[in-house]
Amino acid sequence: CGVFGIFNHPQASELTYIALHSLQHRGQEGAGIVCSNGEFLFGARGMGLLTEALTKEQLMSLETFPHSIGHVRYATTGGSELSNVQPFLFKSHKGDLGLAHNGNLVNALSIREALEDDGAIFQTSSDSEVLAHLIRKNKSADKKQRIKTALRQLKGAFAFVILDEDSLTIALDDHGVRPLMLGMIDDAYCVASETCAFTAIGAEYIRDIEPGELITLNEQGIEFDHYTDVSKPNLCSMEYIYFARADSEFRNTSTYTIRKSLGQQLAREMDVDADIVIGVPDSSLAAAKGFSEASGIPQEQGLIKNRYVGRTFISKGQEARERAVRMKLSPVRDVVEGKRVIVIDDSIVRGTTSRFIVKALKKAGAKEVHMGVSSPPLKNPCFYGIDVSTHAEIIASTKSTEEIRDEIGADSLKYLSVGAMHNVYHSYGSKGQCDACFTGNYPIEIIDRLLPQEK
Ligand code: 5GP
Ligand code: SF4
Ligand code: MG
Repeated sequence: CGVFGIFNHPQASELTYIALHSLQHRGQEGAGIVCSNGEFLFGARGMGLLTEALTKEQLMSLETFPHSIGHVRYATTGGSELSNVQPFLFKSHKGDLGLAHNGNLVNALSIREALEDDGAIFQTSSDSEVLAHLIRKNKSADKKQRIKTALRQLKGAFAFVILDEDSLTIALDDHGVRPLMLGMIDDAYCVASETCAFTAIGAEYIRDIEPGELITLNEQGIEFDHYTDVSKPNLCSMEYIYFARADSEFRNTSTYTIRKSLGQQLAREMDVDADIVIGVPDSSLAAAKGFSEASGIPQEQGLIKNRYVGRTFISKGQEARERAVRMKLSPVRDVVEGKRVIVIDDSIVRGTTSRFIVKALKKAGAKEVHMGVSSPPLKNPCFYGIDVSTHAEIIASTKSTEEIRDEIGADSLKYLSVGAMHNVYHSYGSKGQCDACFTGNYPIEIIDRLLPQEK
């Protein structure tokens, strides 16, 4: 998912819309905006891409509201319905609350059951709804204290933007699993999952929000605080490898640059001779560039992507996924014909993409096809908000590299090592990265294993 928030700007809703548009790659299943005019909250949301989810009329009706939050949703197993589209808007005689969440809580089910036994009634099947209940249930007279106490009860990955009538609260979990960035435009602070949203609206990127940080914006200004003393940085490795947009920055380095380094490291570990290197567009072009630079093998554009097909991963069912890959990628025959080709992809999940690419390149006349993957073998499900839900779907959870090579039909297959991956992150100032989907070392204990996967 992707989140955005802005406080005290005359074009708040319009800027939120533009920001969400640039975060569209983080979720295509639904989108919404909740705005405040200082007295009450108003929201609009819908299913699908942003352009489908919100009508012009809905946006016009939010035009004059100076405070705003927004969300693009990336849902996986079940729960693909309007009621789960965020931001949520909760009504109460004590005041309304708008809430948007990126990440996945790992104790939401336990909390929810306890709250339900205590009389609470939930409107959605989303893990994010528990936070609103916990805030509302707290008896403290101080708003910030209520939010702090509620946040301390949550376990898992969360980047929250919470809007009430007269304040915007921004919170990042104590592991900082999901990215969250602070920006500024025309003296108004804004917050976004990725810095590409700041570029899109013309805002300045100030800094990355820290694990455990709690920021409050109101008429008095901005207040920086922490909801906890604990801080164990574990930023998601997949954000760098695949998920974030290539121009988005983490600690002032673009993921393009980081992906290029991952490709360079892979070239050092992969001992294969070939005529050309090609990257799987778009997310692996940077890694292919790094691979080419480090190996001296020229990079060519041997695969073309139809940009009007959505991300393959998001289609449901294996057959639909295979059809989507075929619609999406096609080889450039005279580039690959008679050549020994190294193909670089950023990750292999089910193997659908690699299997198709090897077959298509060979059909187009490639003499040899070697697969290089600019991340380690993906073996374990993610419980923190990236869609790799079950073991059964993940090819490397049950198969060895040699078995995978055989299954995708490649002449050779090489993954980047875990050590080399971390060296790259470290060299760009990372203070700690989650690598659980590769290593099985989950930095946050998974309390409710069967949680509905809400991103
Ligand atoms: P596969 O086809 O092996 O199931 O998935 C791997 C391919 O899907 C890669 O090309 C990768 O860029 C793309 N992909 C799309 N969505 C995701 C995702 O959420 N996680 C990962 N790791 N790869 C994804
Ligand atoms: Fe990211 Fe993998 Fe950790 Fe999930 S398990 S947060 S995808 S690094
Ligand atoms: Mg890809």
